Amino acid sequence: MTTLTEREQYAILQSERCHCGRSKKRKHAFCGRCFHRLAPETQSALYIRIPHFGESYERAVVELEQKEHRKRNRYIDPRQRVRAAGGAV
Ligand SMILES: [Zn+2]
Repeated sequence: MTTLTEREQYAILQSERCHCGRSKKRKHAFCGRCFHRLAPETQSALYIRIPHFGESYERAVVELEQKEHRKRNRYIDPRQRVRAAGGAV
């Protein structure tokens, strides 16, 4: 189930601005950078048409945010990295 209305789903596809703030092509869900970071299943789900596109889109946004979050932890909290490697903190 998606919380996006059909109008919102059209607006996403018509927009030239990606979820991440970069520019994207019309009729594409994301910019090339975001799209290529998604799992292949998530990418192909984005070809589903409105009104089911919203569901795939929201799932893709969650996936991108989880990736961002993991990346932040890896780079910003070195203690977590030490713990993950079994070292003393
Ligand atoms: Zn993007």
